[in-house]
Amino acid sequence: MVFNVCNIIKLTYKRVLLKISGEVLNGINTSKFNISFIKDIADDIKKLLHFGIEFSIVIGGGNLFRGSSLSSFGLNRIVSDRVGMLSTVINGLLLNDIFSQFKIRTYLMSSISVKKICADYCIEKSLDLLSKKYVLIFCGGLGHPFFTTDSAACLRAIETNSDIFLKGTKVNGIYSEDPSITQSAILYNQLNYQEVLQKELKVMDLTAFILARDHNLPIGVFNMYHTGALKRILTGCKEGTIITG
Ligand code: UDP
Repeated sequence: MVFNVCNIIKLTYKRVLLKISGEVLNGINTSKFNISFIKDIADDIKKLLHFGIEFSIVIGGGNLFRGSSLSSFGLNRIVSDRVGMLSTVINGLLLNDIFSQFKIRTYLMSSISVKKICADYCIEKSLDLLSKKYVLIFCGGLGHPFFTTDSAACLRAIETNSDIFLKGTKVNGIYSEDPSITQSAILYNQLNYQEVLQKELKVMDLTAFILARDHNLPIGVFNMYHTGALKRILTGCKEGTIITG
């Protein structure tokens, strides 16, 4: 479907759920946050808002803590996952503040209650704010241990009637094999859900992927460090990998 929102560009997807992994926030330096890169993301999103695109963002926490890594050091898994979820709240606060500095109207919501610093997640409120062109930032994952922010992103995309779930990563898309090991690995531009499962391609955890497939939610995987990549995907140009039914 093509959305003729304005005279300047034709949008293939109008309402978008963008998942930004914590690792992406690390940037190319060694610090936990690459603030100038987050500013670049804010700048891109601000420009795309002018074209009528509606954005929700699910933020990961892997740049700070991952439950599985903490528990491998002998910590309780549920506590470890709580620490992981709190990491996503920290990233959410940061993103929210930088976006506000760019005069983007944002609203930060968390699936785990941290009421003194941001609102609790609410579907109805999300839908209302999206229709008012706010950029929503969802943190806290699903609010339950043993899940990932990819699952949260798929669920939020479905709940907010998003046209696509975009996974912003540090790689160019889905490859036939690990390109850092196999030089001849092929980058797929287009795949269907069945091909991903048959070829056992690594897109995201299976819980999240099956949820997307069962709701016929298109998935886009792309490199957030490619200048203009977000706009190219949203206007249907060749960028990253698109997975559909
Ligand atoms: N997490 C969780 N439940 C959720 C989402 C996340 O317990 O619904 C925890 C989990 O420990 C995970 C951490 O939060 O490792 C950070 O999330 P994730 O690894 O998905 O972040 P990303 O890799 O996207 O930065």
